[in-house]
Amino acid sequence: MAEEGLWKTLESLLRRYGIVDKFREQLVVVEWDTEAPPLAHKACPLYVKDKTLYLSVPSHALAQELHLQKEKIVRELQEKGYDICDLKFSVRPPELASVPHLLEIAITPEDEVWARNALEGQELPPRLRDRMVSLLAATRARERAMLAAGARKCRSCGAAFFGDSDVCPVCYVEQMEATP
Ligand SMILES: [Zn+2]
Repeated sequence: MAEEGLWKTLESLLRRYGIVDKFREQLVVVEWDTEAPPLAHKACPLYVKDKTLYLSVPSHALAQELHLQKEKIVRELQEKGYDICDLKFSVRPPELASVPHLLEIAITPEDEVWARNALEGQELPPRLRDRMVSLLAATRARERAMLAAGARKCRSCGAAFFGDSDVCPVCYVEQMEATP
């Protein structure tokens, strides 16, 4: 795998997050595994836009079930400090569900140096900076592991993902949203 390709992927990932404010806004997405309300654990977070958290779910039945519990889920997220006011669910196309279970993610010292550099010059409280450094480093390591495990690169944003489509799940939903 070309190192240059990896950097390009990450660059677009960071562009998507727009660093700091945007990344902060997306924290709920990257922390979902540990922070998701138990009710919503089966949903997969995609991104946050205008305080709405977009989630993909494997079936229409589950989308409906979660929709009914929306207020409760939103309240739980707010109690954890996330600035989320609404949820939107989209049913995930089946081919996007094929994520290999065993990804060997190894965060290297270089990942952390890279993450620190990426945040340099940004006004951030030290604790938030440390949290973002470790999340960015983990994101970089994860992208590397995904590409090594056969992930594809999104035609639209360059991010790595598993599946047979041309675009990643995030861009897929964005395109669906954009279609009237
Ligand atoms: Zn994409």
